[in-house]
Amino acid sequence: MSIDFELTRRQRALKYDVREFAREVLRPAAERADAMSDAQAAFVAMKPAFEQAYMMGLATSFLPREYGGGGASNVDMVIATEELCAVDAGFATIILVNGLALLPVVWFGTERQRERWITAATGCPTMDHLGGWVVSERGGTANFDHPHPSAGIQLFAHHDKANSEYVLNGEKHWPCNAGGWDLRGADTNVCIVRTDRTRGGTQALSAVVVDRGTPGLEYEVIDKIGLRTCQNVTMRFDDVRVPEENLFAEGNGDLVVNRAFTWSAPMASAAAVGVARGAYEFALKWAKTYTGGGSSPIIAHQAVGHLLTEIAARIEAGRYMCWKAAHYLDRHDGQGHALAAMNKVYCADLMKDVVVDCMRIVGVNALDRKFGMEKFYREAIVFPLYDAGNLGMQRRKSWGVMADPAFTPDLFADDDPFAFTKSMEGYGVLGGSPADAAPPRFRTT
Ligand SMILES: Cc1cc2nc3c(=O)[nH]c(=O)nc-3n(C[C@H](O)[C@H](O)[C@H](O)COP(=O)(O)OP(=O)(O)OC[C@H]3O[C@@H](n4cnc5c(N)ncnc54)[C@H](O)[C@@H]3O)c2cc1C
Repeated sequence: MSIDFELTRRQRALKYDVREFAREVLRPAAERADAMSDAQAAFVAMKPAFEQAYMMGLATSFLPREYGGGGASNVDMVIATEELCAVDAGFATIILVNGLALLPVVWFGTERQRERWITAATGCPTMDHLGGWVVSERGGTANFDHPHPSAGIQLFAHHDKANSEYVLNGEKHWPCNAGGWDLRGADTNVCIVRTDRTRGGTQALSAVVVDRGTPGLEYEVIDKIGLRTCQNVTMRFDDVRVPEENLFAEGNGDLVVNRAFTWSAPMASAAAVGVARGAYEFALKWAKTYTGGGSSPIIAHQAVGHLLTEIAARIEAGRYMCWKAAHYLDRHDGQGHALAAMNKVYCADLMKDVVVDCMRIVGVNALDRKFGMEKFYREAIVFPLYDAGNLGMQRRKSWGVMADPAFTPDLFADDDPFAFTKSMEGYGVLGGSPADAAPPRFRTT
């Protein structure tokens, strides 16, 4: 009896506590915010709900106990994420991006850096602490591990040794939370930067913390169609000076990116499951009450009943894959890069289709804003595109692991450890072979 899908008493309590919060606190706030035409106003409207989540310990639950966090496991986190996302996926993204930003400091930072930034996050007196995870760029996210220095990440951090500082110049596009509640910056922005202009992405990248209030930054909010309750920005860096001691993972920023997007992958997958479940609950209720002008509720029709069973089966399968991926990460110190990426790709794509099928059950009224179904679609369409993107970064990561000579197909089912290494990076950036270090053939300005 070693395979056990049973939630512990604490996990059941977590699930139903988060469900209650999602239904009672989050739903009304998210409904109001989602209807706002101004993207920043929609984000700010979620602040009271965020403060309540902070008070409950939810907003910092994934951080280690020794620094004041909740010490939640990845399995705990996917359970909580599904519950939040069944109601509003944008809000869950605010919390999860705090994890994407702060956990790299836990994994790759020094003790001093952990003491400084993790305890600041967990002990925030105003209970509204935001961490920004600042990676994506207009031209170079998917190929961050490209071997040529002019490809991939181009936010440059010049080492001004005389002043013991790094000077950052460039632009980031899409980081979540990074602008902060007032567009004067998140409390802690963890940025992936290029510290070496002569080497490729597997040697030249590092992470640097930019504190709120640092001069030289500008933020512009992106007006996106889904997950409107979280904030995404374009962030411009103009001679932004940060102390040397804010840098970590020098030359290993690629590993930071891969590990962080491995941690978030089962969460993003559970988020997709949550949205699909929300759509399924809506469609099931609709099918049991709506007659479509016939003599019985539409669930009495075989076509509708069969489709509902397929929808439910795909949600169940997706959920258990999230649990497995999270469990594997818990057991192997976050080293489950291929399984987590497969989980993200599979669930995000599948759940988008599930939501479309739920809309087919509801029929044309799924398109009418007043019934509230279209929000599930606007959210589901985000999942294959965000959190490192399915086509590029996530699939390339699984591919690199599988190409390793030591990889075996039994690895995950047997729950064997398998560490991620730099040799697994760079797959697909040059049309297949990481060994080919030729300059990129196509460059956009
Ligand atoms: C709600 C939301 C929250 C987000 N939060 C953050 C955040 O906190 N921090 C952050 O940094 N970013 C964030 N992003 C951006 C997000 O992580 C994107 O997934 C990331 O920017 C990658 O985008 P992309 O894959 O479209 O990359 P791009 O580099 O824009 O690539 C464009 C297209 O080309 C394809 N492509 C390019 N190169 C290859 C290749 N070598 N192989 C295969 N396909 C390739 C990609 O797969 C993609 O289809 C967020 C986005 C959203 C919508």
